[in-house]
Amino acid sequence: MTVHFPFQNSYSALPDSFFARVAPTPVAAPRLIKLNRPLALQLGLDPDLLETPEGAEILAGKTVPAGADPIAMAYAGHQFGHFVPQLGDGRAILLGEVIDRNGVRRDIQLKGSGPTPFSRRGDGRAALGPVLREYIVSEAMFALGIPTTRSLAAVVTGEHVIRETALPGAVLTRVASSHIRVGTFQFFAGRRDTDAIRRLADHVITRHYPDLLQAKRPYHDLLATVVARQAELIARWLLVGFIHGVMNTDNTSISGETIDYGPCAFMDTYNPAQVFSSIDEMGRYAYANQPRIGLWNLTRLAECLLPLFSDDQEKAIAEAQDILGAFSDQFSAAYQAGLRRKVGLFTERDGDEALIQDLLDAMAKNQADFTLTFRKLGDAAGDPAAGDARAQFMDPAAFDEWAKRWHERIALEPQSAAERQAAMHAVNPLFIPRNHRVEAVIQAAVNNDDFAPFEELVKVLAKPFEDQPDYASYADPPLPDQRVLQTFCGT
Ligand code: AMP
Ligand code: MG
Ligand code: MG
Repeated sequence: MTVHFPFQNSYSALPDSFFARVAPTPVAAPRLIKLNRPLALQLGLDPDLLETPEGAEILAGKTVPAGADPIAMAYAGHQFGHFVPQLGDGRAILLGEVIDRNGVRRDIQLKGSGPTPFSRRGDGRAALGPVLREYIVSEAMFALGIPTTRSLAAVVTGEHVIRETALPGAVLTRVASSHIRVGTFQFFAGRRDTDAIRRLADHVITRHYPDLLQAKRPYHDLLATVVARQAELIARWLLVGFIHGVMNTDNTSISGETIDYGPCAFMDTYNPAQVFSSIDEMGRYAYANQPRIGLWNLTRLAECLLPLFSDDQEKAIAEAQDILGAFSDQFSAAYQAGLRRKVGLFTERDGDEALIQDLLDAMAKNQADFTLTFRKLGDAAGDPAAGDARAQFMDPAAFDEWAKRWHERIALEPQSAAERQAAMHAVNPLFIPRNHRVEAVIQAAVNNDDFAPFEELVKVLAKPFEDQPDYASYADPPLPDQRVLQTFCGT
């Protein structure tokens, strides 16, 4: 039996300027590290066959499966605010698309599978550490219910990649509802190719937002929809303490999925100004700056779409501004509703926002762990004597003072303590991919070829909302000497 991918490719049928046809570069000795079996099944693939040596060769880019039409996608992008007219898939190759069990078209992409015409000075390869990091964090995001690209597999290539030192090479198989980014539109806008922009917009509407096919102003509605998706997405990030790290426009997905897990991280102690990425020296992509940057990126998308709005430039700009104007309210609505759920409020009352903000302020001041404070607050809802939430605060009295007001507020609602606790535990995870855990897993894999810690971490993170007594220590924040201060792009 050979591995069968039921490819139905649509992107590679677009004009030649959208991509470069290029096959993955074969590697020496592929070895499968991890296959995401449930995802394989969801994609209509046979996990047993993918786990054979032939499967590993496909997932490493050594063998191109029948029906694939491998391409590197063209895109541009603003990197840290500076426009680069041509980026493109420099080390990723789209094998093709399959229709999953839910009828959703999904890209199957190899990341780290060799050079492409867009590689510039890069080698087209990926090191094992970042591949494991993307696998862990993207699957953790999925388990948290946050829109994201997925990881189907990780293989080591049997070759080394040269970074600061020689590192084991790896390939990640990434699955996305598409890899079309704001930067894909920018690629054509930078070339003033309005026909291509329209073609791309039509492709996006057909693929992601088919309801808009009937719309009176489909391109306006496309922008409005992407704005809404991004507002919702970034609110979801903030509500779990996620910092993307490289919110460049080429890493902003049109489908509203989180994409490109580089120097991303979950914060331990709550700090709105938190930055982990070593290359984000100005804090452009700091935790609390993410909504502002999201809007900035969407504004770049709007600029690309102006020629489709109207021939009258001023009218087009006014219409775009109007649509972009919805972002702030949409973000705030999603964020505030999420925060209300996190503190166990079922209803909305005057003063709620201030109450919650006071908690966040006290958390910041007292270096409270973001994840544990909310999780343990759920326990305090069930039993006011439960002390783990207050223990997160350097000065527990700061929590006590706030908790008194909170108990008064929740007493106004009819829900039982148990009901409230269950509702809170369903939105406040116990397990997140903490940096020190991710680092430890990577070290074991890279230095000792030991993937058992990776397996265990992935397993725990698959059930972030469940108490898992056997793995309780995975919920712990880092000890002072375990703290990871910086994350690296580490391509
Ligand atoms: P990123 O910072 O991961 O969003 O990547 C920015 C750009 O650099 C994209 O065009 C990537 O394809 C490209 N790139 C990143 N790493 C490599 C590499 N090792 N080889 C070739 N291109 C790369
Ligand atoms: Mg990228
Ligand atoms: Mg990247």
